[in-house]
Amino acid sequence: MSAVASYDLATLVERVRGQSGGEVDRSVPALASADPDLIAVALVGTDGEIAASEDAGVPFSLQSAVKPFLFALALADTDGAALDRVGIEPTGEAFDAIKLESGTGRPPNPMVNAGALLTASLVDGHDVAGRDERILRGLSAFAGRSLEVDEEIARDEHLLGDRNHALAHLMRSEGTLRVTADDAVAVYARACAVLVDARALAVMGATLAGGGRNPVTGERVVPAAVARDVVSVMATCGVYDGSGRWMRSVGIPAKSSVSGALVLAVPGVLGAAMISPPLDARGTSVRGHAAADILSADLGLHAFGRPSSV
Ligand code: GLU
Repeated sequence: MSAVASYDLATLVERVRGQSGGEVDRSVPALASADPDLIAVALVGTDGEIAASEDAGVPFSLQSAVKPFLFALALADTDGAALDRVGIEPTGEAFDAIKLESGTGRPPNPMVNAGALLTASLVDGHDVAGRDERILRGLSAFAGRSLEVDEEIARDEHLLGDRNHALAHLMRSEGTLRVTADDAVAVYARACAVLVDARALAVMGATLAGGGRNPVTGERVVPAAVARDVVSVMATCGVYDGSGRWMRSVGIPAKSSVSGALVLAVPGVLGAAMISPPLDARGTSVRGHAAADILSADLGLHAFGRPSSV
């Protein structure tokens, strides 16, 4: 049995269950009413082996865990030209900071809201419905199953996302966003509202870890060069202003989200996903981070943790 299939996820979940602290996000009603005690973890090897904890089928909205995949679809659909429109430098600031790259007016990176509003506007599609459709089809290919949008969450995030509207207007005024601000927010809000579960999100991570090929369905979802670019930017920017701390302790490229989800990609090895709604001050799941620390140590997954031979 592979290291993924034989990993004891039930014990991992029990080890982090007692970890206290953190607050559930309250930006929209559906997130505010999330079960703070939910914890689920799933692992998917790049060979297609799956391990999932008891609640790995409980649905939640992707929120910012969608950002690596929006970046991937934008890179694939523009043949890499998306990199001219969005930076790739970490900001050291919160996910929704009203700030663009100085001198260019581009969003700083695709893992913060400004960047994801932009990448969502770059995917194929002539209008909002066309881009929505492309994104849902692309995310479903990453997950290896047909995903759906939670319409109530999409509507609330579109209506209540004042900072996202502000960011979209700012990018419009700089000429970096070429669709209307409202269209940009509408498409991004629907992408954040796509429902997954830990198992599906781990398959999505494993597709990035597998160089863009879904290890469960065998489908090539994005080119290998795109997957490499996306995982590189997850490593430097994926946990917002907590990215440095995350890389030091976990050492695995990842993306956090306000739903309390985390998606991780270890190239050539596995994808992983965790969900636990209480968040720390940087918007990272408290128990998810603890689980990732343990997983990384148990399986020796830290990118810089291998013993030196010299
Ligand atoms: N939908 C959320 C927003 O745009 C996503 C933020 C996050 O998950 O960090 O505010």
